[in-house]
Amino acid sequence: MQYITYSNITIRNNKTITESLCNSSSVSAHYPVRLTDYYTGLIRQSGDAIWKQCMPDARELEDRTQCPDPLDELALSPVPGLIHRYPDRVVLLVSNRCPVYCRFCMRKRLVGSGDAPMGEDDLHNVLYYIAAHPEIHDVILSGGDPLMLDNESLSKILTGLRAIPHVSIIRIGTRIPVTFPERITPDLCKLLSTFHPLYINTHFNHPNEITGDSATACTLLADAGIPLGNQTVLLKGVNDSVDTMRNLMTGLLAIRVKPYYLHQMDLVQGTAHFRTSVKAGLEIMRGLRGHISGMAVPHYVIDLPGGKGKVAILPDDVEINGSTLLLRTYTGERVTYQDIVT
Ligand SMILES: *Cc1c(COP(=O)(O)O)cnc(C)c1O
Ligand code: SF4
Repeated sequence: MQYITYSNITIRNNKTITESLCNSSSVSAHYPVRLTDYYTGLIRQSGDAIWKQCMPDARELEDRTQCPDPLDELALSPVPGLIHRYPDRVVLLVSNRCPVYCRFCMRKRLVGSGDAPMGEDDLHNVLYYIAAHPEIHDVILSGGDPLMLDNESLSKILTGLRAIPHVSIIRIGTRIPVTFPERITPDLCKLLSTFHPLYINTHFNHPNEITGDSATACTLLADAGIPLGNQTVLLKGVNDSVDTMRNLMTGLLAIRVKPYYLHQMDLVQGTAHFRTSVKAGLEIMRGLRGHISGMAVPHYVIDLPGGKGKVAILPDDVEINGSTLLLRTYTGERVTYQDIVT
């Protein structure tokens, strides 16, 4: 497998950014730093929501209480590069590389380290495993960013998966429309469209990431018949307010991206400074449901430590007493509802 050649990905020669990087060399020795011209171009002032997501921070090294792999992905990996946690679906880690290394990444332990994509032997073993497990219907390409692979390598993986009759859907998780939208070319879209049903979940975290360029990337993918979802991570100081989240979720719908998950931050070492309380997350969810299009409301999920899976949680809007329900509306009104079954 080969990565794309990415002469366009360079560290922006911006004085403040360069100074900040120099001050953070001890962080980058632990957790790699990579930026694109495009993404750093979205920074409006130092310390803003884009800055916080991509610029190294000394607090990454101070966080010693957490685990590098709280979701036990290593233990759930029967063959290298494959995570089999749920009965009918698997995740393939096909790439270690991303155009931008997000400081809050849940795979901080992996991304940018070694920097090699999945090799031919590993791919062979992964395909063999999936072929031998007819209960697997849904394969999710992740990493790292799968779209960092060149078109030929992607095609090889997707062709291998499509040759397995029981693989019904393929999903790709990618943040490239957000951080490196020029990678979404007509050629890539044409290639992807030959492997339908194929879904893409992208990863926007802030309204300032919705730009002409990222919208164009999403339009190209959607026009290729690829349904687009979005996963957002709830990040302190980035998107932990109702207003920001409403703008983000409705803005995504307007570029044909359906909000899918809002993730509570995983308990990953090096990311503690981004974590909000679950209570704050539930308050944000309360500020979405009913107030904006239901199409724009994601599921708020906690991915439980120990690989126990994702649990969707909701604000507490129902009290059940026999067949009488006391419900809370989006405006806060309490309404009684009779649950009549004949
Ligand atoms: C999130 C995840 C999935 C996919 O879960 P869905 O709820 O179907 O989107 C599958 N496997 C692993 C290991 C995951 O973390
Ligand atoms: S793009 Fe995704 S995998 Fe890559 S660093 Fe960001 S969050 Fe992690």
